[in-house]
Amino acid sequence: MKMKEEQFRLIKEQLKKLTSIDCFYKKKLEGVDVDSIQSQEDFEKLPFTWKGDLREAYPLGLQAVPDEEIVRIHSSSGTTGTPVIIPYTAKDVDDWAVMFKRCYETAGLTNLDRVQITPGYGLWTAGIGFQNGAEKLGAMVIPMGPGNTDKQLRMMMDMKSTVLCATSSYALLLAEEIAKRGIGDQIHLKKGIIGSERWGEKMRKRIADELGVQLYDIYGLTEVYGPGIGISCDHECGMHMWDDFIYFEIVDPKTGKNLPDGEIGELVITTLKKQGAPLIRYRTHDLTRVIPGDCPCGCKYPRIDTILGRTDDMVKVKGVNIFPSQIDELISGIEGASSEYQFMIDHLNGKDICTLFVEYQDGANAAALEYVIGNAFKAKIGIQVIVKMVRLGELPRSEKKSTRVFDNRY
Ligand code: ZN
Repeated sequence: MKMKEEQFRLIKEQLKKLTSIDCFYKKKLEGVDVDSIQSQEDFEKLPFTWKGDLREAYPLGLQAVPDEEIVRIHSSSGTTGTPVIIPYTAKDVDDWAVMFKRCYETAGLTNLDRVQITPGYGLWTAGIGFQNGAEKLGAMVIPMGPGNTDKQLRMMMDMKSTVLCATSSYALLLAEEIAKRGIGDQIHLKKGIIGSERWGEKMRKRIADELGVQLYDIYGLTEVYGPGIGISCDHECGMHMWDDFIYFEIVDPKTGKNLPDGEIGELVITTLKKQGAPLIRYRTHDLTRVIPGDCPCGCKYPRIDTILGRTDDMVKVKGVNIFPSQIDELISGIEGASSEYQFMIDHLNGKDICTLFVEYQDGANAAALEYVIGNAFKAKIGIQVIVKMVRLGELPRSEKKSTRVFDNRY
């Protein structure tokens, strides 16, 4: 994708500022002559910023403005080791809400909507991001946070919530619970805004059907504001990205070379307006591609595909690269199989053994499904796996992002 003039101007301005004050990027970009950056190609030679760099800057090493300008911090989940702390200025908080409001508008929400927010509040950027955007729109927020399904459903019915904000696995859990309790006729939901966790077509269809809503994928990450930097539209053909706030590139995860539009690679983001903790060429580890051409909805913001996986979820078995999205796709084409699965890789007696657990629908023939899925896996992905069908609901559902691939080899 071609960098726009305005994006180039903002990037140059930011680089000048960051290399002139004492901050994280002054060190990171040591030896780079900002004046010599004259084109997109020059920009593409700048070093990447990695999550590890941000961890090393713990606690507040990323801060690029004086203390009195910082109004809040957020932190990425930090499941492995030191967390990353992102400081925000008042303008950062407001810019984020502006983007989030635009997401809601793209999904067709108005100030008459009632938005039930189930992602977590606190250090995590999710809950509060959903809330600030909804308030900016003028909608009514029902700030639930995660968990307590009884209370969630009660508020959903009594407050007549029209919009559910959730992770895909929590939306599925609520949808299943509504069906189980037979309370579908008391639910007023019209739309679901689902966090950027990668999820398959089958799961999407189940949630949409059971809740009777249209679903939108919202994209974002704590390091770059949080959720709300892009969202899918009614046409469900990728996510529009707010490229007046961020500049994005797709690079080959192995070589770091920029890829042409349409090719799958790693999403790399540069912030254009962020003050508290600007980022230059940040490696998100999310796999996606630029969708070329115009969207039928008429929106001019460029699109990326639904997140296809994480560069670090990609597993290599017997020389074959496997992405979770391939397994989603495979299962979604098989009648009687549910959307839920777990893929385990173990190393036994010198050999890699793969086991795929898949939930099946009541009444389906489990033995036949094991045979069909095993053959399809061999044919489409290229390796032999042991398939084990389990009953609907037996695999764990989580309120946060669910892990589906377990590599037990190391
Ligand atoms: Zn569109």
